[in-house]
Amino acid sequence: MGKGTLVARLRERMSGLGLTVSATTRAPRPGEIDGVSYHFMSEEEFDRRVADGEFLEWAWVHDHRYGTLASEVERVVSGGLSVILEIDVQGGLAVRSAIPDAVLVFVEPPSMEELERRLRGRGTEDEASIEVRLANARSEMAHAADYDVRIVNDDLARAVAELEDVIHTYEKDGGHAHDVRDQA
Ligand code: 5GP
Repeated sequence: MGKGTLVARLRERMSGLGLTVSATTRAPRPGEIDGVSYHFMSEEEFDRRVADGEFLEWAWVHDHRYGTLASEVERVVSGGLSVILEIDVQGGLAVRSAIPDAVLVFVEPPSMEELERRLRGRGTEDEASIEVRLANARSEMAHAADYDVRIVNDDLARAVAELEDVIHTYEKDGGHAHDVRDQA
């Protein structure tokens, strides 16, 4: 399972969490629904929204552009929920600059071999895309130390429980301004 499964399981267990729907220029996979999985958009529409300052962050990931629309964060917050962004490292670091209270959780695969096995097992990517994703995962690992918390995604139940703990701790203390590590 990947980050998506982890977040889905977390939301089954915890109320009060809302997930933003990202925008992307990549093509939908079979079964993905526009406005639910992603806001799928053309290069032109993405360009226009960047120019209009509509993104909290955006980045090139795996040869396509992905981004978080500020309106998505507002939608979740106005529903009284805490916001989860499931985004890449470039996006994570950009969000930290924009929102210093944000808590960055790095979800890492048990190993590169296991990540490769999962990507192939999922059967949604062609060989070239798998290679790009593996190369990106290696370079993302270099930023793990910049994150507030690291969770190894080997055992789903344990990883979900860890993530739940992290959220409880930070919610109780009002975000990153009161980092759990400050009390260590
Ligand atoms: P996928 O193509 O498999 O749906 O997503 C590829 C990667 O894009 C995900 O692993 C995720 O890290 C990243 N991603 C998805 N949405 C966003 C976003 O809104 N912003 C950024 N920076 N990355 C995203």
